[in-house]
Amino acid sequence: MMETKKCPVCSTLLVGRSDKKYCSDQCRAIANNQFKYKTQKLIIDTNKRLRRNRTILKTLSPVGKATVRKTILESMGYDFSAFTSLYLSPAGNLYYLCYDYGFSPIVQRGIERALIITRQKYVGDWQPWQFAK
Ligand SMILES: [Zn+2]
Repeated sequence: MMETKKCPVCSTLLVGRSDKKYCSDQCRAIANNQFKYKTQKLIIDTNKRLRRNRTILKTLSPVGKATVRKTILESMGYDFSAFTSLYLSPAGNLYYLCYDYGFSPIVQRGIERALIITRQKYVGDWQPWQFAK
């Protein structure tokens, strides 16, 4: 029995070559544009989250260093999965940076807090293979 495939853009039944993915060059162009749009939207959304994170850190740390509760960051809409770089201090604290601001997760008196800092000159390039197995 012959397998029937449909054009993912316009649902026209595809006939002929079995590796044919779209019914026409026009539908192929539409699909490519949709893919580009999705990729661009992902980048724009990520940039927004990073900028918002940086603004939150800057707002909470006007003098460049502060300790705040995790819940305050959350209430302001901080996205913990978005950061531009990482820094591991010699003391072993991991910092999540958003451009020139960052924080290290700490627990003080049983409460999750963020130690906010500004990026210092000593923050070197991240070495991904330091944790390689
Ligand atoms: Zn089509």
